[in-house]
Amino acid sequence: MSQWNADNIRADFPILADRAGKRKLIYLDNAATTQKPAAVIDSVSEYYRKHNANVHRGVHFLSLEATQMMEEARLAVKEFINAKSADEIIFTRGTTESINLVASSFGKSLAKDDEIIVGEMEHHSNIVPWQMTAEEHKAKIKVLPFDQSGELMLDLLPQLITPHTRIIALTHVSNVLGTINDIKKVIDLAHSLRIPVLIDGAQGIAHTKVDVQALDCDFYCFSGHKIYAPMGIGVLYGKKERLETLPPYQGGGEMIKQVKFSGTSYNDLPYRFEAGTPDVAGILGLKAALDYVSKISIERIAAIEDELLDYTTAQLQSIDGLRLIGTAKRKSAVISFVINGLHPFDVGTLLDMEGVAVRTGHHCAQPVMEHFDIVGTLRASFAMYNTKAEADSLIAALKKAIAMLK
Ligand SMILES: *Cc1c(COP(=O)(O)O)cnc(C)c1O
Repeated sequence: MSQWNADNIRADFPILADRAGKRKLIYLDNAATTQKPAAVIDSVSEYYRKHNANVHRGVHFLSLEATQMMEEARLAVKEFINAKSADEIIFTRGTTESINLVASSFGKSLAKDDEIIVGEMEHHSNIVPWQMTAEEHKAKIKVLPFDQSGELMLDLLPQLITPHTRIIALTHVSNVLGTINDIKKVIDLAHSLRIPVLIDGAQGIAHTKVDVQALDCDFYCFSGHKIYAPMGIGVLYGKKERLETLPPYQGGGEMIKQVKFSGTSYNDLPYRFEAGTPDVAGILGLKAALDYVSKISIERIAAIEDELLDYTTAQLQSIDGLRLIGTAKRKSAVISFVINGLHPFDVGTLLDMEGVAVRTGHHCAQPVMEHFDIVGTLRASFAMYNTKAEADSLIAALKKAIAMLK
């Protein structure tokens, strides 16, 4: 593919197709979930039409076929993030479950007064599981703050770390501020003190090239649905030597070697952390999505989104009374903003009447709202299929909404 052709890309996404007779759809809520290309939708339905069988269980050909397809998908994920081994790829329901798995299993080794460092800009799913674990084991949470532009105050990290620090959990990219954090710097510092690092990659995976070996992170979590794959499937990457020391999360079928009432032994990686029947269709959909993204290349997608980010940001800044929330130097295409005297929900409702879908509210990151002393923001977030014409529609609809509400 030489020249970027948004029309060709858009044609791959059935929901964006001609909506004759229906309401216009300008979908700018990609940080909440992305739309799915036909290749993903087809792979899910193909699985149920032609391949459905339970995996890792049957001797019959259909089960073996489904198992093989699932393991090929695991390999595709391994390649996509450049993990060392497919055993390091654990399928979960999403970022939330991946973080809960680590917080719960790693958490079992925490003792009284141990410390967990999390970022101030985290999504609730990278705060609450740690709070639950901390409460259970009488450990403490410490917070790495960000500054007014939405950049992590990394200078403060060395002071936050103590001999009691057991793990650092940080987001790669903020779903509210758009900040792309310098996680490599955090990981290097943490490792020099033998502290493991978990990265919430829910946004990072779709907008940046992720190479877990180059990053050297201990855990990297992401959801399929934010990178054009189905909902309900996600990944926990963990370094093998880390995962091997973690106790199991859920118990059940598939995660065991031998079950006896006198004592049960657990399966090898990665199955030890995959209790029960997996979402095979979702896993195949995830593979289709990663194949689709790889074909275009994540760098190219990021370049398109960066252009939309710069273009839209400049236009928004020309609107009177509009304040951007999140102005870090390195950002992905997530733009949060507030408008003086107007409630985000009211503006969002009027935008919706113009067919422009944005998100309003706290975006599952209430500490960020508290930091800026606001109730919520409007948020426009872009994906590879968005266009400058859509950004123009957002701006026009915004101006109309402001004129109506003021
Ligand atoms: C969406 C998101 C999550 C939660 O992902 P789920 O798919 O709901 O589990 C966590 N962190 C960030 C940064 C997100 O954007």
